[in-house]
Amino acid sequence: MKDIMENLLEVKKLSKTYKNGRKALDNLNFNVIKGEILGFLGPNGAGKSTTINILSTLLQSDNGEITYFNDAGLSIKDIKKQLGIVPQELAIYEDISALQNVKFFASLYGIKKSEINERVEDALRKVGLEDRKHDRPSTFSGGMKRRLNIACAIAHNPKLIIFDEPTVGIDPQSRNHILDSIKNLRDEGATIIYTTHYMEEVQQICDRVIIMDGGVVLLNDSLDNILKYYSNSNYQIRVDKQINPEVLDEIRKSSNVVEVNQKSESEVIFSMDEESAPINSVLEILIRFNLNIVSITMIKKNLEDVFLLLTGKRLRD
Ligand code: ADP
Repeated sequence: MKDIMENLLEVKKLSKTYKNGRKALDNLNFNVIKGEILGFLGPNGAGKSTTINILSTLLQSDNGEITYFNDAGLSIKDIKKQLGIVPQELAIYEDISALQNVKFFASLYGIKKSEINERVEDALRKVGLEDRKHDRPSTFSGGMKRRLNIACAIAHNPKLIIFDEPTVGIDPQSRNHILDSIKNLRDEGATIIYTTHYMEEVQQICDRVIIMDGGVVLLNDSLDNILKYYSNSNYQIRVDKQINPEVLDEIRKSSNVVEVNQKSESEVIFSMDEESAPINSVLEILIRFNLNIVSITMIKKNLEDVFLLLTGKRLRD
């Protein structure tokens, strides 16, 4: 069981307007709970990078407050020591070994000499590169380079790791490997903010999801709740004759039905307000109007549909 939920990060009323007058963040509020993988989603221009750059201390906000690690008195230096940022672009040296790469980045964090080797080995193990540690990245696949990029960002054992789209342009097998590494990091105690364009990834690894657009949070809830709440089940029923408008009207009136649409002459699509609501009433209406049921198909909404519903945009637009 999870411990009592503790905030690792609290963001209050964060605002940012760029010099060109573009308002990127508009009183943004959210928190990050210790031990979770938080999926951070939004269409292009939503304000994700701005938020992440501010959280990473690379950019200053105009207004607002961020409390890191439950301690309002931390200096930027203290904060940086406990943050791991995995950038989208590779930041590794091709011509030194994987181990030397991680060691170099770890040394920037002032890790003690006596500890550095252990930390470096541990980071390489966490991303599954211990067998290739003496090889140069120039001999690595794209996915392995990405994993090395992660190892470089985590050797100082950060409490909070921010991933900025770490799987863009990666083949499915390597992608799964990266996702497994990220779950491992969480299971070993890190807290993670994960930005991505891929809904399947969010459904695969995230505990909670924030969807933002126009510099504000549109939705902030656990993945389970989002799918439960928004994924009312849709059914498509085909019958053997034409469906008349009066039949559709009757279906609209029946209990638990929230939406009815005619797909074709003999097909109707309707959604129930709960995932497992009985559809007997709809079937009864069809039978009462002498329509024989030919097929019933259940269509479930996924996170992509929820995203479209809230932002009016496809994530990959
Ligand atoms: P996302 O990462 O979700 O795509 P961004 O945070 O990059 O969104 O951008 C949010 C808004 O701020 C957009 O309207 C974008 O055009 C604007 N913006 C981002 N960076 C800059 C910048 N350096 N100068 C001016 N406007 C910017």
